[in-house]
Amino acid sequence: MTVCPNLRKFEQAMYYNVSQQLKEGVGSHRTYILDETVRYDDPADDSTVEGVLDSLYTGRSILVTGELAMGVSDVCSRCLEKFTEHLRIDIEEEFFPMRDINTGAALGLPEDVEDGFRIDERFTLDLYEAVRQAIIMALPMSPLCRPDCQGLCPECGSNLNLGNCNCSRSPVDVRWNALRSLLDNPEQRDRNGTTG
Ligand SMILES: [Zn+2]
Ligand SMILES: [Zn+2]
Repeated sequence: MTVCPNLRKFEQAMYYNVSQQLKEGVGSHRTYILDETVRYDDPADDSTVEGVLDSLYTGRSILVTGELAMGVSDVCSRCLEKFTEHLRIDIEEEFFPMRDINTGAALGLPEDVEDGFRIDERFTLDLYEAVRQAIIMALPMSPLCRPDCQGLCPECGSNLNLGNCNCSRSPVDVRWNALRSLLDNPEQRDRNGTTG
């Protein structure tokens, strides 16, 4: 088992030269250990990715499998605050060589594969794109900073996770207004009761 040591920045870290592995033939494999910080323009957005990926040359492709844990900066859909989304991503992807490692002949995709990841002409396997797509698939449609996020007050916009505001947040369904006015005014209710 070979551990790939040449990890640089995240993006570059996800490009692997697999020419040696292909030369070793069917069954050869590598283990990639990822423990990276993904840096963004705003340091508050920095996130981490870690995990272990196994790469196996199956004869027709290099099959990469494993699990990544990552923190991705996200914005809560209720309170609009930034928070770190903790994702666990299963990776299981085939990467198909564009050229035969021994003859240099161009290789097509297998017939049963419509749109697979390619290993380029320099035998570079680009894992970054596969991981990027997996992250997008794993991100929730409506991210929440926490399951019980209270969101923003619809009237004053204050973050209700930080405490209640002074607005009275009453039901907005007008059909209930008449009934609620009765409940809010016991005198009127009693009067109605006695006259009816
Ligand atoms: Zn929130
Ligand atoms: Zn309010």
